[in-house]
Parts: sequence; C-alpha cells; structure tokens
Amino acid sequence: MKDLLSPTYLFKSILDIEYKKINKKILFFDLDNTVIDYNTVFPTDDYIKLFENLYNEGYLIYLLSNNHLKRFNEVKNRLKYIKFIYHSFKPFKFKIESLIKKDNLNKNEIVFIGDQIITDIVCANKIGITSILVSPINKSSERIHTLFNRLLESILLNVIKKNDIDKYNKIEKIIRKDY
Ligand SMILES: [Mg+2]
Repeated sequence: MKDLLSPTYLFKSILDIEYKKINKKILFFDLDNTVIDYNTVFPTDDYIKLFENLYNEGYLIYLLSNNHLKRFNEVKNRLKYIKFIYHSFKPFKFKIESLIKKDNLNKNEIVFIGDQIITDIVCANKIGITSILVSPINKSSERIHTLFNRLLESILLNVIKKNDIDKYNKIEKIIRKDY
C-alpha cells in the first residue's frame, strides 16, 4: 500500500520542478490545482511561460484531468501544443494506459505530476511511472469531491506515517503548503 501512495519526488509547484534533473521527456500534468485552481479557467502568465519553455526544449506535454472538456477550453486555447485528455478516470489506469499505447510512449520517459496522492500519485504508481507531488495551487478553491479525496488521503497517509515518519512529514508539508 505504501508503495502505491508514495510519490517519487516532491516539489512546491510545477514552476519549481527541476525538469533537467528529473530527466523525463514526456510530462503528464494534472489540471486542477496543479496548473490552474478550481476558481479559474485561465492559467497565469508564469505557468504559460513555463509550458512554452518546456515545449521549446522538446518536452512532450499532456494534460490529464478527471474534469470535463468544457473546463479545458480556455487552457486549450492558450496552450495549443499540449495534448489534452479529459475524463481521465484517475486513479484508474485504463484510459491513461490506452493513451500510452496509442501514442506509443515509453513508460521510462514519462513523469506524472499532480497535487493529489489518491488520484495522481496512485495512478502513476499503478501504471509504473515516475511521479511528482506538488502543492495544490489554492487549497481553499477545492470543492466537495476533492475535500472528500483529501480526507481519504489523510487517512491513507497513516500507512506511510507508520512506516517512515520522515517521508510522511515531507509529504504533509507539500500537501499543507507548510514551508
Ligand atoms: Mg488536481
């Protein structure tokens, strides 16, 4: 269980990730609270700039969200070179596994980046790819289903707490933005 819940890396935000060091050319990003908060459909300029830079450096970029297509539209217009997958059904892996197969992606080249353990990190670990947990952009924008996920997340994290208190504290810091 603890292996399913553990992110490979922790960073404060997608702006802080050391992409060169991570050395994966295919980037899977979660959308909500990883790229934009729940109150908006507009990515901020620094996030748009980051995606432009990554694209120009040759990264293959995907946005994978459990949310619906409508919520994607504005982001899609701003970031035309990104591939979008909506209704991704994380933490279930079937949709993302089929994407990996369809686009002929090498799992060793992928890193999955998101703000929730029980959707993003569990999904990445089920598929067997590297993962990065980032802090949610705006915790107060989270709605009922995410709050439920957070509750479940805090219960499940006790498994890590029992096994590795240092790791647990580091993960908690990222989730709570306590730094
Ligand atoms: Mg999210």
